[in-house]
Amino acid sequence: MEHHPVVLTEKIAIGISMCAMGCPVRYNGKAIDVLTVLGRERQDFIWCPVCPECLAGLGVTRDPIHLTSGCGDDVWTGEAGIRNRGGKVVTEAVIEGCKDSLKALQRCNTKAFVYMDGSPSCGVYRTTLKNTRRGNPPGVFGSLLLKEGYFLIPSSDLQSPLKWWDWRRRLLAFHWFANLQLSGLQELYDAWYRLKFLCQELDNTWAREMGRTLATLSKEDFASFEPEFRLQVLNLLRRPSTPAKITNSLWKHYSHYRKSRGKRVEEINSPDFKRNVTTIAKELLKMERTAVEDDFLFGASPVIYRDQRRLEAIEKRKTEE
Ligand code: SF4
Repeated sequence: MEHHPVVLTEKIAIGISMCAMGCPVRYNGKAIDVLTVLGRERQDFIWCPVCPECLAGLGVTRDPIHLTSGCGDDVWTGEAGIRNRGGKVVTEAVIEGCKDSLKALQRCNTKAFVYMDGSPSCGVYRTTLKNTRRGNPPGVFGSLLLKEGYFLIPSSDLQSPLKWWDWRRRLLAFHWFANLQLSGLQELYDAWYRLKFLCQELDNTWAREMGRTLATLSKEDFASFEPEFRLQVLNLLRRPSTPAKITNSLWKHYSHYRKSRGKRVEEINSPDFKRNVTTIAKELLKMERTAVEDDFLFGASPVIYRDQRRLEAIEKRKTEE
């Protein structure tokens, strides 16, 4: 049986630190717009901007805040507090701002968040821009999002077309698989077939081991195995790939396409051909387009978003040919 790509026609909602979407809500009244670079692709998602510090009622402009000790996790357990530059304790206000931000994200049905790193609130791996040694990562809101199992994307990675392509394809796969109901072993195998090439690219050793485990499962094992399988796959999909792995994977799938369909895509190059990340990203997008138009499973990007009208236009073109 040949597998087809999964094509989603409903837009995914993504939360985003409000200041990363061009809203001047930082403590100093500044902002950065990380979405402009996405061009028309920005409209493929529903964006849900939140600012925990604004919802804390701290206002713009405001004194910058810092953790008194520890990290964001310690604020939630009461072992650390938050003060502003003037020394005022704002712990409770920030906690409320984080909770209200999470509620807004949940009302928007988000499971992914583009965060501004370097913030004591939204930061995940860095909570200061300078080495002020005041509080460790994650930030207070970052800690909450980690606990809630959010798919976390650093806003700076949207500036690289290749990094963004990598985040987007893993996000779409994550979203599809997290919402997929599996009622038996055959459905689990079908889902695995679609995701396994991407999993192999991300961690070949883990994917091969998983393949061996799946081969030994019986129908009776399904109910107890499914939750752990889902958890492990979703955790793997959170992990970024590398340019070398991506170009190898592109070439492997393109070679399979050429062989099975007898067609060529001139723009796609082999891994040893030197080119910049922008060119690689263009090749990947070309392969994704080709896969949707030819109903071919491009395993490096198994879940693709297309709006309904674009899909209908593709179908119309096919019937006219
Ligand atoms: S709390 Fe988050 S959204 Fe608000 S200004 Fe700081 S980094 Fe930006």
